[in-house]
Amino acid sequence: MGTRFVNEPVFFTFHKIREQGEQGDAGAWRAFLGFYSPALLRLLEIHAAMRPEEASAVLKRMLVELTANGLARFRATSRQSEREFLADIRALLLDIAADSPAPKDSPAGPNGGFEADKIGKLMEDLPLLHKEMLFFKLGGYSDVTLERILRMSPRVAATAFDRLAQEYSLALHRERDVCPWPAQWLAFLKLARSLTTPNCIPAHQSVRIHDGQVSWYEKEPVENHVSGCLHCLEAWTGLREVAYWRHAADPLSSSEIELLLEIVPIEKPRAKTKSFLERLRH
Ligand SMILES: [Zn+2]
Repeated sequence: MGTRFVNEPVFFTFHKIREQGEQGDAGAWRAFLGFYSPALLRLLEIHAAMRPEEASAVLKRMLVELTANGLARFRATSRQSEREFLADIRALLLDIAADSPAPKDSPAGPNGGFEADKIGKLMEDLPLLHKEMLFFKLGGYSDVTLERILRMSPRVAATAFDRLAQEYSLALHRERDVCPWPAQWLAFLKLARSLTTPNCIPAHQSVRIHDGQVSWYEKEPVENHVSGCLHCLEAWTGLREVAYWRHAADPLSSSEIELLLEIVPIEKPRAKTKSFLERLRH
């Protein structure tokens, strides 16, 4: 991990990236790309079943949108916490992926697709944790990764997974984290994100619950809402997912980061730090 972020002389925190990124600081953007693009690429490889080159093309389109018109979309992202910020970027990224030419769905995919009613019915009367697990499974997650994300064995939801056996059996027993029906799944996620209600849960509340910072009487009404709302379940699982991949995704090389940085429309003074090769000699 020592060379995870080789070309950045300054120690960047999320808040610094968010603040100085808005001012068009090249160091902050290098840090943004180094910290976050590995996770974003991973999300595309999973939900959109994209190969690395395809994922990279979508990430570049996302960077163009994020930074157009004087970084307008970037300025609109959350400043609260890294996870809320990443959840926001994730939504933008997956929306772009949904509108991009994606790999074909498996022909053995669900006949009727992923209509909201149908998925609601699939999860009916399950506890929230089991719903989360089903949601991740439909997105193509293997049990191994699911256990790492939720820090709990997916075996607890074994009876819930039986509901996948008929129409969604491809989601069962996956060895790699890749969605078997990326086109329909991305369209469904996009639909879920659009289904907001006046009672929907702000992301910071979900983050506090995930971190165990709220008492049960604060938690219960929130969890009840999330349990019955596809919009919030999508956001809730999305927050867990970005928290995990932020640290679990393989880092990019400094040359890959420099190539992505070329897309960001800011001035790029040459980094004053030693080059990667110079550093290796020490
Ligand atoms: Zn909601």
